[in-house]
Amino acid sequence: MSELLTVNDLKTYFTVNKGLLGKSNDVVKAVDGVSFEVRKGETLGLVGESGCGKSTTGRSIMRLIEPTGGTIHFEGKEISKLSPSQFRPLRKQMQIVFQDPYASLNPRMTVQKALEEAIGVRLPQLSAKERVEHVQELLNLVGLNSQFASRYPHEFSGGQRQRIGIARALAVQPSLIVADEPVSALDVSIQAQIVNLLQDLQQRLGLGYLFISHDLGVVRHISDRIAVMYLGRIVEIADKKDLFARPMHPYTQALMSAVPKANPLRKKERIVLTGDVPNPAKPPAGCAFHTRCPHAVEMCSQVRPVATSVNANHYVSCHLYGLEGMKIIENRAN
Ligand code: SF4
Ligand code: MG
Repeated sequence: MSELLTVNDLKTYFTVNKGLLGKSNDVVKAVDGVSFEVRKGETLGLVGESGCGKSTTGRSIMRLIEPTGGTIHFEGKEISKLSPSQFRPLRKQMQIVFQDPYASLNPRMTVQKALEEAIGVRLPQLSAKERVEHVQELLNLVGLNSQFASRYPHEFSGGQRQRIGIARALAVQPSLIVADEPVSALDVSIQAQIVNLLQDLQQRLGLGYLFISHDLGVVRHISDRIAVMYLGRIVEIADKKDLFARPMHPYTQALMSAVPKANPLRKKERIVLTGDVPNPAKPPAGCAFHTRCPHAVEMCSQVRPVATSVNANHYVSCHLYGLEGMKIIENRAN
């Protein structure tokens, strides 16, 4: 599989005013040196607790937020430094689907109009009749009756609205979809339908997905590979099977132990993390996870771990897996 999207050392920092007079500023490193790739036709799941920077990562890739540093290549082209007008043609090939499609659908526009508008971006030369046909095809593609075209967003259920959001993303024939918590607002039974629809569309259209979710169960269902994020950094990335068979980062292990179904650690106790997620404006020094990590050693509070290769597709950022670290973990196991 070849690479569709390559993100290298992406950084997105925000400055937030502190204090009444706004005289002192905090820098929130929402995304702090994130690297991964999404290959053609695959799903990379990006999982982590709320506030870990996964949505900011997705929005930075889409240039909805300007990254502070790093590079983003889309189909081999560096896109992070393009001007808005240079980026616009590529923007069609990358689409984002949000958690709440209602917020991104104009309440005064029928589905027909909303989809026509999106189709017009790619195919401005179409006749009115062709546009109507196109909308019908799109609705069918996402499993909606073409009679729905004359309705308004408020007339639909959450699941139907998400189908419309997906149809609108597909209208410009993208090759990459960033799906940011696309099923989190839906009932569990509807979640499965939307996840199945996304998988079906991927097979038919060869789409690559960056699937962002706090729900490891959902991510497990849809992903080929999974990246685990904590406080602005990716702590582990691996093929799904490998990650579930051999979660190496203590944070991944804790997340997995909390997934009720098909839990690889089911014979073991659930790992309950103590302490809150630290303030992202003041992340702990060294390994950002050290304040909650059950395995922390002295160097963890001082030295930031770098990604260590476990195999060609499996990387973990944790001192336990450095050269010396392998010994540490083996000793702990004995
Ligand atoms: Fe825990 Fe240290 Fe590994 Fe961080 S580097 S996850 S604190 S053992
Ligand atoms: Mg989010």
